[in-house]
Amino acid sequence: MLNLSLQSLALHLEKKTFSSAELTQFFLGRIKQHNPSLNAFISIDEEKSLTMAKKADELIAKGKKSTLTGIPVAQKDIFCSQGWPTTCGSKMLENFIAPYDAMVIEKFNEVGAVNIGKTNMDEFAMGSSNETSYFGPVKNPWNLDLVPGGSSGGSASAIAARLAPAATGTDTGGSIRQPASLCGFTGLKPTYGLVSRYGMIAFASSLDQAGPMAISAEDCALLMNVMSGHDKRDSTSIERDKEDYGSKLNSSIKGLKIGIPKEFFGEGLDSSVHTLIDAAIDQYKKLGAEIIEISLPNNHLAIPVYYVIAPAEASSNLSRYDGVRYGYRTKEYDDLTDMYFKTRQEGFGEEVKRRILIGTYVLSAGYYDAYYLKAQKIRRLISEDFTNAFKQCDVIMGPSAPSVAFNAGEKKEDPLAMYMQDIYTISTNLAGLPAMSIPAGFVSNLPVGLQLIGNYFTEAKLLNIAHSFQKNTDWHLKSAKGFE
Ligand code: GLN
Repeated sequence: MLNLSLQSLALHLEKKTFSSAELTQFFLGRIKQHNPSLNAFISIDEEKSLTMAKKADELIAKGKKSTLTGIPVAQKDIFCSQGWPTTCGSKMLENFIAPYDAMVIEKFNEVGAVNIGKTNMDEFAMGSSNETSYFGPVKNPWNLDLVPGGSSGGSASAIAARLAPAATGTDTGGSIRQPASLCGFTGLKPTYGLVSRYGMIAFASSLDQAGPMAISAEDCALLMNVMSGHDKRDSTSIERDKEDYGSKLNSSIKGLKIGIPKEFFGEGLDSSVHTLIDAAIDQYKKLGAEIIEISLPNNHLAIPVYYVIAPAEASSNLSRYDGVRYGYRTKEYDDLTDMYFKTRQEGFGEEVKRRILIGTYVLSAGYYDAYYLKAQKIRRLISEDFTNAFKQCDVIMGPSAPSVAFNAGEKKEDPLAMYMQDIYTISTNLAGLPAMSIPAGFVSNLPVGLQLIGNYFTEAKLLNIAHSFQKNTDWHLKSAKGFE
């Protein structure tokens, strides 16, 4: 059960080699065994998961199944899930039980998938190492002293340690791809608007996008088939015909034009990671692809632009946590203003407060033009760089992260060093483009991810490009020692 693809798990369920209840019990057992050392899950509810599994078994018995019926999926704790604690990694929501389902959760429920638990994450999805969670840091299964990446670090650790066969994540500036790179699995951040944000706790609304995390591109395609789709409850959800993301798998990639941005291979990229990325690109050449050097001249501005826009949106989104409506409220206070102050002072962690301060500052009357408006203008330039690049190539490739997983605590006190982790991932969020990270080898037993960036709505094509690589390599199938 441990290393099977979602498709083969589905076949076994259909043939009744094992039931969904048995499969769910198996993964719950692994969670019980390994979660104390990994801290990948914030909440597990055996009874709820098994009830869902039994319902799935009934559906399967009646022949009313779709591919993911009865398959356990770990859900990032940013998705409201009715009756489950939904904390977003924050003390602010420690005791919050979601009264409704996010669209992503609804979709998995509709097909009869099993919620195997809610995964740990950086507080309000702010971070690149999963060290800002109120529920403690998550560990990387490849080496417990190292970070798994963030902010979807719990989902990442769960997939890498095989505590669940599939998981969800969200990616505002790299939070699916960077942990996928550091933990050695496949992750996809879809085109902005393809997966509804309804019920997904907001960080930076113009950048937030949910996506699948799993062992292979094939598995991610199946998850995307469930997660995507128009939703009128999210005003930025895109109205498009439903697509089968697995439909292009196994198409030839002969003649594929791969753009290599020279800006992704400069200073700051670890040389051993560079070597592996070059080797992965060579592999694509062998498969018949053509390599073209391209330029993304404004990429170096992506981090400063993001760290103006994302905090600005966060400062507005997080104003709802005031101790009045729901969530944490301070115990002792003099008056209403004092209650607001103390609630927010005690309920938010340091990184979240830093972002709220930056965001409030850049949106203030005197600085709006100088920072926020300027950042929006550069965001447009960054986006145009990609439009120009895609006139010359079909896909862009490079590293997902500048290095392999780093030591816990190493960058925690240095926010700028932490922000640099997102140097290769953030520009695609600013442009709203789809991108993936796939395993491309190891540096001293630690995984390295290759990033693939596509033009808008080319997820099916991207998944095929990733699948072609995975048919010819086995990096994605390796599992960490102690978790095989
Ligand atoms: N690391 C980035 C940040 O801290 C991105 C996080 C994300 O994608 N959610 O904002």
